[in-house]
Amino acid sequence: MDLERVDAPQPKRPLPWATATMLLAFVLALTVWASQAISVAAQGVTGGSATVAGTPAGWKGSWGGGTEGVPVEAPSAVAAKAAREKAAGIKVPVYRGAEPMTQVEGQTVVSITFDDGWAGARRGAEILDAAGLKGTFYVNSGTLDAPGYLSLVQAKEMAKAGHEIGGHTVSHARLSGLPADEAARQICQDRENLAGWGFSPTSFAYPFADTNASMEKAAKDCGYNSARNLGDVQNRFVCGNCGNAESLRPENPYELKAPSQVESDWTLKDLQEAVTAAGPDGGWVILTFHGICPLECKIIDVEESLFAEFTQWLAERTTTDNVVVRTVQQVIGGPNRPTVSGPAAKLNTIANPGLQKLGDSGIPACWNRAAYGSNTAAFSQVKGAGGNIRSKLVVSDYQDGDAKLLPVQDLGECAPAVKAGHSYSLRAWYSATADVQFAVYYRDGTGSWHYWASSGYLPRSSDLIPAAWTTPPLPEGATSLVFGLALLGNGELVTDDYGMYDTNEAQLLAVD
Ligand SMILES: [Zn+2]
Repeated sequence: MDLERVDAPQPKRPLPWATATMLLAFVLALTVWASQAISVAAQGVTGGSATVAGTPAGWKGSWGGGTEGVPVEAPSAVAAKAAREKAAGIKVPVYRGAEPMTQVEGQTVVSITFDDGWAGARRGAEILDAAGLKGTFYVNSGTLDAPGYLSLVQAKEMAKAGHEIGGHTVSHARLSGLPADEAARQICQDRENLAGWGFSPTSFAYPFADTNASMEKAAKDCGYNSARNLGDVQNRFVCGNCGNAESLRPENPYELKAPSQVESDWTLKDLQEAVTAAGPDGGWVILTFHGICPLECKIIDVEESLFAEFTQWLAERTTTDNVVVRTVQQVIGGPNRPTVSGPAAKLNTIANPGLQKLGDSGIPACWNRAAYGSNTAAFSQVKGAGGNIRSKLVVSDYQDGDAKLLPVQDLGECAPAVKAGHSYSLRAWYSATADVQFAVYYRDGTGSWHYWASSGYLPRSSDLIPAAWTTPPLPEGATSLVFGLALLGNGELVTDDYGMYDTNEAQLLAVD
């Protein structure tokens, strides 16, 4: 497999803060695991655009900034709820299981797949419809309804029209960089999300075509019937020694072989040759697309006119040659297995609360350095009495925004499980020379994160002193909570020994 030419989406333009917060929190969470955390220790973070999980500057007055936090839902959560309600009215056909596709001698079976659920995938589906063909769309359930992506309503309309919706993890996770449990949560939660919305997700594709035996097992254990890889079928770009097609009875359905993804340098001839390369023996050719230009015009996207030309050519082959176009689900068949929940997260337990364990990236494991707005934030680790590691944050050039150390916003490896409706007492030790407040985020049932509330300002102190704030009851559907101490001005903040307890259960938890 060629690692350079794999599924690697990038947002096309800056996203509004709410989505940027959610997406970038995911991205940051993942990059930490991949030992590529944004390094801000030495050079600092210069503000100017939303970077990572932040409280929106425009909302500071009503959500914090010196007044007690107001327990209203973030706009991103409210918008998501409205979109989900609209989508709930659309019924999609349920797949009830089928035999694997019958093999016909010399037949070439083509599957047209789209990864990531970019907004242009909708245009891709329309072009396929015009050619009388159906495709497989591997979507990330965590970004459906986010700007630049398919809406849930669109995905359901596509499924209703006969296209297949498959899974691609909640947040486009690079699975091999995650602990096994977290990788399983990414795959299983995504499938649960899709099934919960009425889809019949039986097909999965590995983000970044990044997989190994343990990920294949996770895809299977989460209930999928197949999982697609990339770059294991030859073309002029990669893998000259590979075969010309996958088998209709794949050796390993959890590592489906496919040519490298279609990119902007593919010509009509390249697309045609991917199909004709199967030759007189036939076989299964799985083509992988991302966005459609002019909606998306990155290196991994294809021109709309080229895609239309190719699909028309392909549709013609189905009448003149021994070629058929089928979804991955139609080829693989198999049952529509029940959904499976990923490994449970620990209840009310902040991971690495004392910051003592450093991760591969050199910052405390399970923590992120977050900053947004116009300011320069420099993080470092300092040692307290007895050699305990503490986090130090210095903010300068402050105009707006904040900076803070925050637990990684993941699906349970770092972020603790909590109970909706419960209030949590949040604790940390700190010293500060400028305004500091608790800032709280929650995860919803689909695995997306939302900024929620902030405390009032805490007293400034040159000595390390304890801080505590009790949140309002967590909103309906909340499954996790993370919090940090945010610095909102020029100055210095040192923190250590975070903790939280569930006030409804009156039990001290999560102490170091
Ligand atoms: Zn992808």
